[in-house]
Amino acid sequence: MRLILLGPPGAGKGTQASGIINKYNIPHISTGDIFRKNIKEGTDLGKQAKEYMDKGLLVPDELVVGLVKNRLTENDTENGFLLDGFPRTVAQAEALDTELKNLGWSLDNVINIKVSKDELVERAVGRRICKDCGATYHIKFNPPTIPGKCDVCGGELYQRDDDNEETVTKRIEVYENQTSPLIEYYNKQSVLLNIDGAQNIDKVFDDIVDALGSKK
Ligand SMILES: [Zn+2]
Repeated sequence: MRLILLGPPGAGKGTQASGIINKYNIPHISTGDIFRKNIKEGTDLGKQAKEYMDKGLLVPDELVVGLVKNRLTENDTENGFLLDGFPRTVAQAEALDTELKNLGWSLDNVINIKVSKDELVERAVGRRICKDCGATYHIKFNPPTIPGKCDVCGGELYQRDDDNEETVTKRIEVYENQTSPLIEYYNKQSVLLNIDGAQNIDKVFDDIVDALGSKK
């Protein structure tokens, strides 16, 4: 199962990713993890990537693709993989297609978790976090027993600065602008699976499994 996971920030991608990798016994490959590992191990590509990151610049496609390519050929990918955070652009998607073709592989599916902007804003704006233990709540969907107090440790709950409507809206718009050509690209390849991410976590996961099952 060779998969890509797409979804806006706040769509619950992390939870679904762990469910998918457990069920299909495939590694979760995120560009963040690859960067950290290569930088830590001081590989050539890692050193080059770090130079860009230290300057606050985007790591160029060529480098990102090289790092992902190396990761894909490690020995835990025989059952496939779940790519997360890559590709981000059509250019990266094309480069990935080329690499996969060179390996004699192809992509099975691109899972696209869809959640409306309004829903994402509501989720973020209502989020509260415990100052002491980090437990998360939502004033509407998962409220603490005593308003403003953590159920686990009694700590004070706070709202993150960037969990406000303006910042969240902007974050989602950036994501949408960046990924809509990518979604179109995979739609044309007939590998795109649109999943309704506004449902509860278990239902979203069931829908993903169903969609993957019916395609294979
Ligand atoms: Zn707490």
